[in-house]
Amino acid sequence: MPELPEVETVRRGLDPLLRGRTVEEADIMDGRLTAPEDPAAVAAELLGERFTAVGRRGKYLLFGLDTGRTLVVHLRMTGWFHHRRGDGEELTHVRAVLGLDDGSTLVYADQRRFGTWRLIEPGGLEEYLRPRAGPEPLSDEWTPRRFRHDLAGRRASVKALLLHQGVVAGVGNIYADEALWQARIHPLRPGGGLTAAEVRRLHAAVVETLRRGIAYQGASIRNYRGPDGAPGGMQERFNAYDRDGEPCPRCGTPIEKIRVAQRGTHLCPRCTRQP
Ligand SMILES: [Zn+2]
Repeated sequence: MPELPEVETVRRGLDPLLRGRTVEEADIMDGRLTAPEDPAAVAAELLGERFTAVGRRGKYLLFGLDTGRTLVVHLRMTGWFHHRRGDGEELTHVRAVLGLDDGSTLVYADQRRFGTWRLIEPGGLEEYLRPRAGPEPLSDEWTPRRFRHDLAGRRASVKALLLHQGVVAGVGNIYADEALWQARIHPLRPGGGLTAAEVRRLHAAVVETLRRGIAYQGASIRNYRGPDGAPGGMQERFNAYDRDGEPCPRCGTPIEKIRVAQRGTHLCPRCTRQP
């Protein structure tokens, strides 16, 4: 699933292409994308709308529209956008196509069909996002103090809590494993059991690994691609994630893979203390 760095890479790619562009054609072919709304009705609403900017909250893309509405898109497992001018390669699993007033086309493809498009009315965005996206990790609102407050008393594993979008928005399996490895904290440690120093270390590690992911334009595992079709480069720079059996870059011990919170979890058994 695309995580914050992948979604941010998509946002940065799309924003200059869409800003100021008007939707001249809209075709949504998959009812699951807009459910429970009718896809044809959503397409009709998008017709004539002009994009003001492309924003992001956690893993959500926010397509700002001239009328004050927002098209909120979550890519889930395999959703992705492809922007093209003229004909290009044949794309598979296309679920929606928007024709823009400069002759370009925005194509949305999604093999697994878990992605969602929601058209939110003016003033309704905060209410929609509040239960879905907690503090934004790369903003000033997410401080070590707030993180410590949100972990206090929690018996769930720190890995599960990092994946919880209410604790911190945008972190998924890749960046949780990378951040825990960097902070030298075992994924099974109960969140409430971390010392103040460990919370500070983990907070810094989350911010740093997300920034690193953005700098390398995300990780291309499965089918993730940027809007221009280019793969990211983060997958070649993992320290722990997807490296089971390979040496820990810090101490040389083979990385282990265990299951935490129903997710494959990668750790160095020497660098991190077992709970
Ligand atoms: Zn190690």
